Amino acid sequence: MQIKDLKNILLGSTTNKEEPSSAITQEAPAQFPPVPNDAMIIVPMRGTVLFPQNVSPLVIGRKLSINAVQEAVRSEKPIGLLMQLRDKDEEPNPDDLYSVGTVAEILRYITAPDGTHHVICQGVQRFRVQEFLQGYPFLVARIEPYEEPETSSQDVEARVITLKQKALEVLAQTQQVPDELINAIQSITSPPMLADLVASYLISKAVEKQEILALFDIQARIDRILELLNYQVEVLKISNKINEQTQETMGQRQREFVLREQMKAIQKELGEEEGGAAEIEEISKAISAAKMPEEVEKQARKELARLQHMPDASGEYSMIRTYLDWLTELPWSVSSAGVIDIAKAREILNEDHYGLDKIKKRILEFLAVRKLNPNGKSPILCFVGPPGVGKTSLGRSIARATEREFIRASLGGLHDEAEIRGHRRTYIGALPGNVIQSIRKAGTNNPVFMLDEMDKIGSGGFHGDPSSALLEVLDPEQNSTFRDNYLAVAFDLSHVMFIGTANVLDSIPGPLRDRMEVIELTGYTSEEKLQIAKRYLVHRQQESNGLSPEQCTITDDAILTIIQDYTREAGCRNLEREIGSAFRHVAMRIAEGIVMSEQIDSEHIADILGPKRFYSDVAMRTSVPGVATGLAWTPVGGDILFIEATRLPGDGKLILTGQLGEVMKESAQAALSLVKSRANELNLSPEIFKKNDIHVHVPAGAIPKDGPSAGVAMFIALFSAFSERTVHSNVAMTGEISLRGLVLPVGGIKEKVIAAARAGLKTVMLPALNKKDFEEIPEAVRNQLRFIWLENVDDALSIAVENDLKT
Ligand code: ATP
Ligand code: MG
Repeated sequence: MQIKDLKNILLGSTTNKEEPSSAITQEAPAQFPPVPNDAMIIVPMRGTVLFPQNVSPLVIGRKLSINAVQEAVRSEKPIGLLMQLRDKDEEPNPDDLYSVGTVAEILRYITAPDGTHHVICQGVQRFRVQEFLQGYPFLVARIEPYEEPETSSQDVEARVITLKQKALEVLAQTQQVPDELINAIQSITSPPMLADLVASYLISKAVEKQEILALFDIQARIDRILELLNYQVEVLKISNKINEQTQETMGQRQREFVLREQMKAIQKELGEEEGGAAEIEEISKAISAAKMPEEVEKQARKELARLQHMPDASGEYSMIRTYLDWLTELPWSVSSAGVIDIAKAREILNEDHYGLDKIKKRILEFLAVRKLNPNGKSPILCFVGPPGVGKTSLGRSIARATEREFIRASLGGLHDEAEIRGHRRTYIGALPGNVIQSIRKAGTNNPVFMLDEMDKIGSGGFHGDPSSALLEVLDPEQNSTFRDNYLAVAFDLSHVMFIGTANVLDSIPGPLRDRMEVIELTGYTSEEKLQIAKRYLVHRQQESNGLSPEQCTITDDAILTIIQDYTREAGCRNLEREIGSAFRHVAMRIAEGIVMSEQIDSEHIADILGPKRFYSDVAMRTSVPGVATGLAWTPVGGDILFIEATRLPGDGKLILTGQLGEVMKESAQAALSLVKSRANELNLSPEIFKKNDIHVHVPAGAIPKDGPSAGVAMFIALFSAFSERTVHSNVAMTGEISLRGLVLPVGGIKEKVIAAARAGLKTVMLPALNKKDFEEIPEAVRNQLRFIWLENVDDALSIAVENDLKT
């Protein structure tokens, strides 16, 4: 393709420079010297560069330029186009112009009907200004034109190829490219022509065009163009990608936008317009009011700034909003409690709880240490004991005594670390973990924080070990900078007073147990329960059922009946519940007008609460030979169990039922062997073992039946079955046996003995080797029972079995 064709494309139709506009020729010749041959009329241009060979229309507006163009047309001379350094100069001096420009031929000069002047020019070649000449009503300069060299080097040819590729690449990414331009770039062979064409069409900034115009050396010129094109390709790629992405979300966004605008309009109509700015202002105030640590406040302000630039109905907005609510509502610098007053604490503990003297003493010691060394590492208390013995209520008391808030979190069944430490905010619906949630509920940063059910914490699974997260919470070294995943900033837990509770010590994960000071609460005896009921439970239940002490009372006998026949527990929870239902019964009668007031006596209990729920069935159960009362340890505080042995015709087999564990089965075997081996001393004929099978059964489903500690009871039951002598109904026993007949020590003495007392037994037989545990048994229980210490099974026989052996 030839230049001529290109000209045609750009002009639309062929123009003829021999047809200057008639308007000019008629004007009178001007009063100034002719422009010398080596000089040129200069037309200043704003923000435009015309490259050689290029054709472009120009608007001529300024007087200076109109004069210049008209003179050029009249004298049929080309003009020199020079770009202004700054667009804003109205009458540029020579100093305000670049010094390299383009010689241009005026193809056409037009005065439009509205009086504006236009020229269509074609660039011819580059020039450099040598000097400006004075004395003309337009700019005139002596110039030095630049002739492009004819020849070209290999280096240049190579660049030409790259340039073509690059240019086509840019065009491929651009929309609406005229085919002619692509054809022109593909077919042009002259390096300067190609370079100028590409620069003219593909480089958009005037300053860059001017820079290229001023590069006379063709190699440098192409290099610079390539540089600029490369940059452009990258920009275009990125912008196309963004475009694609935005196109995808555009539909959704637009919809949201429209809906949001509608919502705003509706809110405005309803007068509910809330003004986002007011909300932001409110949050900002809340941030200041929360008195956060510096790091946290910085984070909060950062999030607030993000919130400001967000449409307030978007999902992310509400996410950040919730997060900021959490940050502002946490008690960063709210704390309660003053100095710990030990005397007052003692008073409060006594006020709230009956008995428990040792435990109260240890709590007071603990508080004293905290008082003397408030910032020191104090151990973490852990109350261990069966349900309803007052663990939680002691915790409340401690909070009251130290004037702190009280909060609880249950750890039962936790097996995800995130439940303690929260989920990262990137999760949908993420929230802080248990610890931070509780602290927010407490509203202070130094509450008494009770961690319930530490023995039921799940072991770490796929999502991290909750107990290791808990360790961090409890560790005074680490908990001053506890980082919840959701908050992602540190919260100081070091002022929190943690107290653990558990039913069983053994199931608390080892490392946690080591960190805590364990305080064991055993169950209460009937007498203690009576006292607790009289002092606390009765009053509480009267109140909560809306009864005054005049309207309804309950006798001690009635309470004892409830304790013995309606509850069988270590603690007081069911007792309180049953007293409550007795009172409700009375409340009903008063409300119905049947009675004005009522005293609940033990005779009424069966009418009110229904038939007895627990029988002191020991006497009945043991009234036949072959039944012995054993003692079992259970997580809820110990219980009694019966070992039943029956003799039936057969050939000496041992039948075991009652879903016994392996160890208990072996223990039964051992007991049988022991009875057989002592047949002589026990006055039993060896025949009896040959002609009979023996069936040992242990009823009661709820008690775990394994372990060796029923050995003594098995032995006694078997002997009783073979000898047909009954076992004393008020004797209970525990102890492992050896084949030689020695009684070996067992665990859980305290709980077992308390259970025996609770069941109304009078004598307990324990291994002599367990004497060391005697101290642990509550005094009230000790006073209630007779203790027999067994060294071997013979010691047990004379006490347990009715009718003296020798008779
Ligand atoms: P769990 O292991 O089931 O949580 P807990 O040990 O926390 O049991 P609490 O809830 O503290 O049991 O106690 C049950 C009820 O018994 C409470 O109403 C409590 O006030 C009362 N109670 C227990 N021991 C005493 C006591 N020594 N003096 C007064 N009230 C008591
Ligand atoms: Mg509790």
